[in-house]
Amino acid sequence: MSSDCIFCKILQGEIPSTEVYSDETFYAFRDINPGAPTHILVIPREHIPAITDAGEEHAELLGQMLLRANAIAREEGLPENGFRYVLNCGEWGGQTVFHIHLHILGGRPLGWPPG
Ligand code: 5GP
Ligand code: ZN
Repeated sequence: MSSDCIFCKILQGEIPSTEVYSDETFYAFRDINPGAPTHILVIPREHIPAITDAGEEHAELLGQMLLRANAIAREEGLPENGFRYVLNCGEWGGQTVFHIHLHILGGRPLGWPPG
């Protein structure tokens, strides 16, 4: 838990969010500024600033995060037409919140490459 982290505040209930999934390890919620009809963020409850801060000890957590995202994507009906996972890292990667989060984006055709 980091006191100046927006997503830790969401986890503490200090900032409201629209919950999609919650358990003792992960929380998923709707992005406040959706980039697609479905835009969900999956975050670990553990505060890890960026994906490059993860170590061997996080291998299982990161695997579980992808499997959890798969379950959410299925629940949202995304796999039929296809969708996208995004994990931004650092300034040039477009990361604005420094608490690991996996974007689930879908509900429309998505362009590639990103800007
Ligand atoms: P990043 O750019 O770091 O990969 O993604 C951060 C995401 O968090 C952005 O898509 C942004 O819209 C979302 N976001 C930032 N602050 C909040 C918030 O207070 N609530 C919610 N639900 N999403 C947020
Ligand atoms: Zn945090």
